[in-house]
Amino acid sequence: MARSKQAVIIGGGFAGLSAACYMARAGYRVVLLEKNKKVGGRAQSAEDASFKFDLGPNWYIMPDIYEDFFHDFGASPDEHYKLTKLSPAFRIFTPEGSYFDALEPERMADQLDSFSHGDGIGFKRLLNRSKVVYSSYKLGLMQESWLSKFPGLKPKVFSTLFRLPKGTVASRNAEFIKSRDGKSMVDSLSHFLGGTADKIPAPYSFLPYTIFEQGVWHPEGGFSSVVESFKQIAQKLGVEIYEGYEVERVEVQYGVASAVVIKGIEERIPADIVISAGDYLSSESMLEPIYQSYSLDFWKSKKYSPSAIVVSLGLNTKVPNLLHHNTFTNPTPSDLNTRVWPSQIGTFNVACPSFTQPDLAPDGGEVLTITIPIPAGLPDEEAALRRLVSQAYEKISAVTGINIQSAIVKEHITSSSYFKSMFKAPGGSVAGLAQYKNQVFQNRPRLKSKKLSNLFYAGQDTNPGSGVGFAIVSGKLAAYAALGKKPEAKL
Ligand SMILES: Cc1cc2nc3c(=O)[nH]c(=O)nc-3n(C[C@H](O)[C@H](O)[C@H](O)COP(=O)(O)OP(=O)(O)OC[C@H]3O[C@@H](n4cnc5c(N)ncnc54)[C@H](O)[C@@H]3O)c2cc1C
Repeated sequence: MARSKQAVIIGGGFAGLSAACYMARAGYRVVLLEKNKKVGGRAQSAEDASFKFDLGPNWYIMPDIYEDFFHDFGASPDEHYKLTKLSPAFRIFTPEGSYFDALEPERMADQLDSFSHGDGIGFKRLLNRSKVVYSSYKLGLMQESWLSKFPGLKPKVFSTLFRLPKGTVASRNAEFIKSRDGKSMVDSLSHFLGGTADKIPAPYSFLPYTIFEQGVWHPEGGFSSVVESFKQIAQKLGVEIYEGYEVERVEVQYGVASAVVIKGIEERIPADIVISAGDYLSSESMLEPIYQSYSLDFWKSKKYSPSAIVVSLGLNTKVPNLLHHNTFTNPTPSDLNTRVWPSQIGTFNVACPSFTQPDLAPDGGEVLTITIPIPAGLPDEEAALRRLVSQAYEKISAVTGINIQSAIVKEHITSSSYFKSMFKAPGGSVAGLAQYKNQVFQNRPRLKSKKLSNLFYAGQDTNPGSGVGFAIVSGKLAAYAALGKKPEAKL
C-alpha cells in the first residue's frame, strides 16, 4: 500500500503505541516521538545485574482488552509473553495485621460469610451484578468516542447509562457487603480507576467481576514485556519509533496542525494527522492558546488522581506471608484530596513479583514494590516521604517477621517529582484526571480538538479513562476518530 499521508503520534505510552498501530494499519506513514529514553510511558522498569522492577503498573487486569488489541493485529498475548493467573489474586491485610485472601468466588463467598453472615450471598450478588455492569459498559460505553453534540442522547449510550447503577462505587458495594474488612477489600479495588470508591461513579462498579472472575495476571518479565510486544507490533506495521525526542510545539498552518517541532534540534516533522497521547494539559501546552481546546479555568476546576510514592526494594532474604499482590487496608484512609502530606499511611499496596517469578531476584532474595498513594500537587518533602516509607516498612515487617529495613540491598524511590519530570504529569498525578462524577463520559476532555480538525488526543485523561487497558482503548478511539471510523463494540 502506498503510504502518502503521515500521522505523527506524540508520546509512546500504551495509548500512543496503540494509536500508532491503528493508524499504520489504515495505511498511514506513522512517526511516533517519545521524550523519554524508552517507550512505555508510566510502565517503566529498572534492572541491574540482580533485580528487575516494574516502576509503574504491576496489576495486569482486564485481560480481554489486551486480547482485543492483539486480535486486531492478527496476534495474541501468549505469542508475545507468558501470562500466569495469580491464585489467590491478592492478600488483604487488616489494620490489626491479620489477613485473608482474595480467593476464587465460591470460597471467597464462604470466607466473607464467616466475617458477617449474609456477606457470602451479598458477594455473589455483587459479582453477578458487576459482570452485567461490565458487559453493559463494554458494549455500550467503552468504545464510545463522545464526539457527537449530544452523545448522551444516542440510543445505545442513553439506554446503557439508564441501565447502569447510580451513586458511587462505595455506595454500590455497601448494598451487598456489610463487614468492615469485606468492604475495605472491595472498595480498595477502586485505586485502579485513579480514585477512591466514595468518589467514583457506580457505572464503574465492575471491578469485582474483573478481579475475581477474569482474574489478576502476571506477564513474565513484568510490564516491560507487554511494552516490548506493543513496540514490536508497531514496528512490524512500519511505525517509525524515535525514543528520546520531545515534541516542543505543534505548528498550525491554514487552520490545521501542519507539523510538530522537536525540542533542542528544531527538527520539523510534517503531519497530516497529529495524535497527542501524553497528559492532556501538557499536550495542550504545545499549542498557542488560541488553538487549545480548554481554558486554564477548566483545568483548575478538575480533580486529579493521587500521586504516589513508589518504593522498589531488592532484598537479600525471602519474605514469608506475602503473596504476589498484597493490600494493606486502612478503613480511615488518609485524605488524598488535600494539599497536605499525610501524617499516617492509608491503604497501600505491596507487590512481590518474585513470588511468581523468582528469577526477578537473585537466589534467596526478593523484589518488593510498595505503592503508597499521596495527594497530587504536594511540594517535595523528604522527611514526610521518609515517614510514610518507614511506616510501610514497619507494617510489612510486622506481618512478615522480617526486619525489612535490614534486608534491603537495593532501594529505589520515586515520588511526585518523578511523575512530573518524566511524564509532565500535573501535580505528579499517577493516573491523570480522576474518574469522578463530573469528569467521566461527556465531561472528560475530548479525543478530538475543538479547534483543529486534524488534531486528536489519546491517553488516560480522555475516555475511557485511566489504567493500561483503558489507555489502549483510548489510542484506538483516537485513531478511529482521526480515520472517521466508528469503533465496533465487542464483548
Ligand atoms: C505507579 C503506577 C502504578 C500503576 N498501576 C497500574 C496497574 O497496576 N494496572 C494498570 O492497569 N494501570 C496502572 N497504572 C496506570 C497506568 O500505568 C496508566 O493509566 C497508563 O499507563 C497510561 O498510559 P498513557 O499512554 O495514557 O500515558 P503515559 O503512560 O503517561 O504515556 C504518555 C507518554 O507521552 C510522553 N510524552 C509526553 N509529552 C511528550 C512530548 N511533548 N513529546 C514526546 N513525548 C511526550 C511521556 O513521556 C509518556 O511516555 C499505574 C500507574 C502508575 C504511575
